[in-house]
Amino acid sequence: ASKSIRKLVLGNWKLHGTLSANGSLLSAVREGVANSAITASCDVGVCVPFPYLAQAESALTGSDLAWGAQDVSAHASGAYTGEVSATMLRDFGSRYVLVGHSERRMYHAESDQLVADKAKIALDAGLIPVVCIGESLAEREADQTLSIVERQLAPVLALGSDVVRRLVIAYEPVWAIGTGKTASPEQAQDVHAAIRKLLGEDGASVRLLYGGSVKGANAASLFAMADIDGGLIGGAALNAEEFLRIAEAG
Ligand code: PGA
Repeated sequence: ASKSIRKLVLGNWKLHGTLSANGSLLSAVREGVANSAITASCDVGVCVPFPYLAQAESALTGSDLAWGAQDVSAHASGAYTGEVSATMLRDFGSRYVLVGHSERRMYHAESDQLVADKAKIALDAGLIPVVCIGESLAEREADQTLSIVERQLAPVLALGSDVVRRLVIAYEPVWAIGTGKTASPEQAQDVHAAIRKLLGEDGASVRLLYGGSVKGANAASLFAMADIDGGLIGGAALNAEEFLRIAEAG
């Protein structure tokens, strides 16, 4: 991790949860964080499904945990049935929002430009967008990893310094998401260093998270790398003990 940057561990619950299961998970994580030294070095948050934002707000207000959403509309308001705006997320106290998760890119055909538009509207509303990028297995095998992340970031970088400095970027190789196949710390570090370079001077303060099968057992070795500033955690974020173990490594 870069010495001057505070770490960040964010849970991504994806399409999981019920009021009752979330209630237990949120209170266990809240309690675990309160009884640890985690927040001395690391920010922690959870990105929940939209309907549970109010629940996260009421369970986590006054704690050291932040919350947020997994997607946001690129539109401020209007005739966009089914969409949720950045100001609505703010209304429920959200701090973070994921944009361009590979599952959104894959199943909802989100383009690089749309993802950049979402990052911009989120920032303008006072949220911290977590821009997710990463290559597929076929792209890695074809040696295209760096050109893919460069392409994905291009419209984001075009938003300018003022925007870029305030982003969080999550590098999540698609082949490592939910597969149990974590990128090695060295593999991840190589891409993180390349991303930091792409960001130029603005990169010095940008948190670069790694995502893809992060577990309690591998978090510390990933977070020890020079350009890995924390993690975006899927499956392991659904288990309080495991999620706390990861945050302890931050
Ligand atoms: P995973 O998911 O930790 O279950 O691999 C990470 C993500 O998709 O953000």
